[in-house]
Amino acid sequence: MSSYVDLSWWFESCADDLSPAAPLDKDVAVDVAIVGAGFTGLWTAYYLAKARPDLKIAVLEKEIAGFGASGRNGGWASALFPSSLATLAKGAGRERALAQHAAMRATVDELITVAAAEGIDADVAKGGTIVVARTPTQWRRAVAEVDDARTWGLGEDEMVLLDEATAKVRLNAADTIGATYTPDCAAVHPAKLARGLARVVRKLGVAIYEGTTVTGLAPHLVTTDRGTVTAEFIVRATEGFSASLPGARRAVIPVYSLIIATEPLPASVWDEIGLAERETFSDQRHLIVYGQRTADDRIVFGGRGAPYHFGSAIRPEFDNEPRVFAALRDSIVEMFPVLRDTAITHHWGGPLGIARDWHASVGLDAATGIGWAGGYVGDGVTTTNLAGRTLRDLILGEATDLTSLPWVGHRSRGWEPEPLRWMAVNAGLRAMTVADTEERITRRESLAARVMAPFMGGH
Ligand SMILES: Cc1cc2nc3c(=O)[nH]c(=O)nc-3n(C[C@H](O)[C@H](O)[C@H](O)COP(=O)(O)OP(=O)(O)OC[C@H]3O[C@@H](n4cnc5c(N)ncnc54)[C@H](O)[C@@H]3O)c2cc1C
Repeated sequence: MSSYVDLSWWFESCADDLSPAAPLDKDVAVDVAIVGAGFTGLWTAYYLAKARPDLKIAVLEKEIAGFGASGRNGGWASALFPSSLATLAKGAGRERALAQHAAMRATVDELITVAAAEGIDADVAKGGTIVVARTPTQWRRAVAEVDDARTWGLGEDEMVLLDEATAKVRLNAADTIGATYTPDCAAVHPAKLARGLARVVRKLGVAIYEGTTVTGLAPHLVTTDRGTVTAEFIVRATEGFSASLPGARRAVIPVYSLIIATEPLPASVWDEIGLAERETFSDQRHLIVYGQRTADDRIVFGGRGAPYHFGSAIRPEFDNEPRVFAALRDSIVEMFPVLRDTAITHHWGGPLGIARDWHASVGLDAATGIGWAGGYVGDGVTTTNLAGRTLRDLILGEATDLTSLPWVGHRSRGWEPEPLRWMAVNAGLRAMTVADTEERITRRESLAARVMAPFMGGH
């Protein structure tokens, strides 16, 4: 990678020196070895080092801290979890499903509190999320979502239905009929958070070896291109990149999410659009889109639509998909016609991880001492913090409220071998695009979307 600054607008604006830290230069022995310096790896290191300053912890990172999805995402620190309450309750019962939901809500505040306490200025604003409905079909979905929330005992303090006038005060998107609003989300600058966290973790005595590629994982042994690391515990924190590691090739697939950023917008445009509290925003379409107003008054707006690449391949050129960037630009101009002449100054993308059953998980195999967390399906900014605290408890052998949550120890089956995987995933992505067009024309719920909906959550 010639210049990490070009990875995302977030990296460009994070005001950090992005030169890689020293790689591993000899064989070492530690208590805990963590593979990957994204949010999962860094939060795990943070909470472990805080709880047990005596532990020797090493993080091994192929590029630089934050290089993966953690330094490139949409910056929604939300309480969203990729599995619905109904899915969680099927396996774990209603009470534990609700415990997972409550843990996610609390984690949004945990992330904000720790960042502030550690002096990490990540441009945080907890303005909640507004999801507008812009067709009658989308409005029916919004109403159904709030009705469903009520059946789980979630009140107006968690999710509320807004009529057209109230919705437009928060976000004045074209064709708005109404919206759902939840206070449980903060807009963050993800690269400032990731780089700040890496700084804090280093100060706590954790060694982060950058420019160090892990080539193999075995019980108590990590092999890299620079030397070996022996450890009592090993954590695989490589999320969307996991398919490149031996032993995890079919665990999660990398699916690309792509983003554009506008130039900073003047006050007159914000008077028109809203987002006075820096609410994160979306609409009820099937092919996920997500936006945030940045601290310097840009819109960062992302979405799916990029193809899945055969063999779970990840390459720098996959971050650049002009067709998707053009569609994203058309989308925000259609939502906010005032942006007609606004310049798009940046675009980028990256892979997020999806397990075969779309279920995020965290766990530690007691027999091998190998732990993992991932499969966040684009809802990882907050979930990684919960994963980090849970891995701390699992590694320290403590049974806590966190270790009894239903995602702990969940095992998803592996993805199909190619070419089946490629055909099925791309068919799903295409179905969502077709469904949105179909609904705009017919104004009825698309059948394809109904079939695929449970599989298309997250960012
Ligand atoms: C474009 C985009 C937008 C998103 N938007 C949101 C959002 O708004 N809200 C939200 O909640 N989630 C969002 N997500 C998802 C979220 O960013 C991820 O779930 C989260 O950052 C995952 O963190 P992680 O640490 O598990 O993985 P990553 O941040 O991907 O980190 C994995 C690290 O492992 C390293 N690595 C890989 N292979 C090796 C190896 N062999 N040896 C050593 N190191 C290795 C990588 O270089 C990388 O740094 C988005 C994701 C993308 C891509």
